[in-house]
Amino acid sequence: VRNYDAIVVGGGPAGSTCARHLSVAGLSVLVVDAARFPRDKLCAGWITPRVVEAASMDPHEYECGGRTLQPFTGFRTGMIDGPSIHTDFERIVSFGILRCEFDQYLLDRAGAELATGDPVTTLLREGGRWIVNDKFEAPVIVGAGGHFCPVARRLNEQQAAETRGGHVPGLVVAQETELRMTPEQARRCRVEGRVPELYFCRDRAGYGWCVRKGDHLNVGLGQLGGRPLRPLVAAFASSLQRDGRIPADMPFEWKGHAYRVHVQPRRVLAGDGVVVVGDAAGLAHRVSGEGIVTAVESGRLAARSILSASGRYSAEELSSYVAMIDRRYGRPPVERPRTPLAASVVSRLVPHLMRSRRFVRRVLLDRWFLQLGRTPIS
Ligand SMILES: Cc1cc2nc3c(=O)[nH]c(=O)nc-3n(C[C@H](O)[C@H](O)[C@H](O)COP(=O)(O)OP(=O)(O)OC[C@H]3O[C@@H](n4cnc5c(N)ncnc54)[C@H](O)[C@@H]3O)c2cc1C
Repeated sequence: VRNYDAIVVGGGPAGSTCARHLSVAGLSVLVVDAARFPRDKLCAGWITPRVVEAASMDPHEYECGGRTLQPFTGFRTGMIDGPSIHTDFERIVSFGILRCEFDQYLLDRAGAELATGDPVTTLLREGGRWIVNDKFEAPVIVGAGGHFCPVARRLNEQQAAETRGGHVPGLVVAQETELRMTPEQARRCRVEGRVPELYFCRDRAGYGWCVRKGDHLNVGLGQLGGRPLRPLVAAFASSLQRDGRIPADMPFEWKGHAYRVHVQPRRVLAGDGVVVVGDAAGLAHRVSGEGIVTAVESGRLAARSILSASGRYSAEELSSYVAMIDRRYGRPPVERPRTPLAASVVSRLVPHLMRSRRFVRRVLLDRWFLQLGRTPIS
């Protein structure tokens, strides 16, 4: 059995950020991931400047490594199958990245030992230490394995049992296709690289996106709640093709994934010798579904909590992580199902709001999607 100061399960943005901050502080860290890198992750690949800040990224250096970094200076928004409006910020407000490149970049910088292609299958707690897959041992473990993280599952066994087979609060299910366009398709594609497109469902329980990053095009739709996704996604893609936004001969290969947004009851975030971060903790933004920023920020906060515990990893010591998450994101609200009346009001109101340039700019984009008022993590 090999010994470490900390083991991080999952090498996505949450795990690699946490690992980096622990390594820099002098801890010996192992990142264990089921996948071999570079690996892809279903994601539109939209990142806000807060991600650049929290991950201490240098955009110039990132691009110089031959990676795709598509600046976004505006958004086209509307209802699915309805008219759309273009909001121009006249400055860079976000970026588009390819997850296979982005996640590899963050993991390379983590400075940790890697065990990739190694799914965590056993997790034992003995004498105040964790033993992973019968071969790695540490006094503290970080669950960063995304929505299906084995560490989060163990910490949340009771909550999982209560929701088994039933409604999972805040669960987003999404499907997307990301592909490289041929030069001919790229010429015919009317989606501009600088202007990602967002199209909302009438009940506001979800939205479709169309994001162009260099010659890559990413089309997808995600929604809260349990309606069947496939017909919505197919209808969305054909509306884009019918309107000529994307080439009619784009071959779609839909892939699906799920994750949780930040609502009550929240997953348990810390326990004896353990914290969970990113999607494993269910921290994504409630409206936009943005999860990379909360992954990176929670990775940093978890590292801070582990370092301040100075080797005493009791649940009480590590509860400082939960307090930091609450300070950063507030206590999550309770997800309430809409009454039929409220649902009908929303479905009539949303198309009107989406035609209002003021609402789109001030509320939808500035407040919900770009969260312009929020300060970067210190
Ligand atoms: C379709 C879709 C589109 C999205 N678009 C955006 C977007 O544009 N912008 C945005 O900010 N967010 C987006 N999100 C959310 C975002 O992708 C996630 O919030 C983010 O990836 C969370 O990062 P993470 O590090 O917590 O988890 P992940 O990125 O999921 O990484 C988890 C890692 O854990 C590993 N792992 C899993 N199980 C095990 C195991 N048993 N043993 C070992 N390793 C394991 C996995 O291989 C993986 O590498 C999107 C999500 C979906 C589904």
